[in-house]
Amino acid sequence: MKIVDVNIRELKVPLKHAYALSKAYGVQTTTCNIVVEIVTDNGVSGWGECDPWAEFTGDTGETVISLLKGIIGPRLIGMDPTDIMAIHALMDSSLRGNHTAKACIDVACYDILGKTYGAPVYKFIGGKLRDSVKCFWAVGGGTADETAKAVADVKARGFYGCMIKVGNNYRIDAERTLAAREAVGDAFPLIADANQGWDVRTAILYGRAVEKVNLLFLEQPVKYTDINGLAKIRQSVSMPISADESVTTIQDAEQLVRFAACDYFSVKVSKNGGIAPMKRICDFAADAGVDVFFNSMHEEGITQSASLHVACTVSNLLAETGHSFFSTMRLDGDITDFKYWTEDGVTKLRNRPGLGFEINWDNLEKYTVRSCSVLR
Ligand SMILES: [Mg+2]
Repeated sequence: MKIVDVNIRELKVPLKHAYALSKAYGVQTTTCNIVVEIVTDNGVSGWGECDPWAEFTGDTGETVISLLKGIIGPRLIGMDPTDIMAIHALMDSSLRGNHTAKACIDVACYDILGKTYGAPVYKFIGGKLRDSVKCFWAVGGGTADETAKAVADVKARGFYGCMIKVGNNYRIDAERTLAAREAVGDAFPLIADANQGWDVRTAILYGRAVEKVNLLFLEQPVKYTDINGLAKIRQSVSMPISADESVTTIQDAEQLVRFAACDYFSVKVSKNGGIAPMKRICDFAADAGVDVFFNSMHEEGITQSASLHVACTVSNLLAETGHSFFSTMRLDGDITDFKYWTEDGVTKLRNRPGLGFEINWDNLEKYTVRSCSVLR
C-alpha cells in the first residue's frame, strides 16, 4: 500500500460560549483545526487532525498547512502508511520540532492501519485495559458566583470532575476556587489550571490561599520553560502539580522527572505529536511513577477519538477524576459522531476498525475555511 495524496483542510469552528483563560491566553471564541485525509492506492483512506494554537503549541493553521504541503507531504508520497515508525523517522529527519503538524499525519496513519487490518487502533498500541473513560468538564473565567454556578452545573450534568481556569489576579482566582468548592462539596474532583499565567511567587500565594480547598491538582502555574519554578512551587504548596505546556516531548518528560517538578503529566495528542509519541510519554511516566491526565485542546472528534484509544491502553491513567473528552460538546458542531460516544459522563470506545468515528460531511464542509492537497 502506498500513499498517493494527502488532502488538507483548515477548519474554524465557533465555540458555543466564549472561553476565558489565563492572562497568557485571553478569551477563545473559535477553534483552529487542521484535518487531513491520507489517500492510498488501494482505496483505504485515513483521517487525522491536529489543533494548532500559536501561544500554546507554537503552531498556527497556516504554518501547519505550509509544512504539510511543502515539506512533510511530498516526502510521504509512495510510503506505506502502516509503517508508522518509518513515517515518524521521515518526519523527524525532515523537520525539527513542529509536533502539531506531525500529529495529524500520525493519527491518519493509525486510522489506516486499523482499517487495513480490520481492528480498532487500541489493538496496535498494546491493547485495552478499559473500554471507557470518565469525562470531566472545564469552565473558564468569571466572577466567584459565576464560577460556583458553572461548576455546580458541571456536577449536576453528571461529569466526573471540573477544571477551572485561573492564572489571572491570584486573589480573585482564590475566591473563585473557594466558591467553586463550596458549591460542589468536598468530594467532587476540582482542578485549577493557570495556563502559564503566574510567576513562582504568585503561584505559591495562590496555592497557599486555596490550601483548604482540596484541589486534585494545580496545572501549569508558570511558563513552560520554568522547570525549576515548577519544582519550587511543588515543594511550597500542599496540592499536587501537573505539567501541561511543559511536557511536549519525551525529553521534556524526562527532564520534569529528573527535576521532580510535577506529580502528573497532562497529555494531548496534538501537543505531543500524535498517538505514538503520546503513548511513549505515557509509558515512560508509568515507569517513573507519574500518572497521566488526558487533556485536550479545542478538538474535533478525530483528535478526541485518537486520545481515547490511547487512554484506554495506559496503566497509569489518573484515577481520581474524569478526563477531557468533552471538547466536541462545547463546539458549534462536530465533524464526526464523537460527541455521541459520551453518555452519563462516561466516554466509551466504539469497536470499529481504525479510530472508529464517522465523518459528518455536512459539518466538515460547513467549517472548512480553506483546502488543498499535497499534489494540488
Ligand atoms: Mg492545561
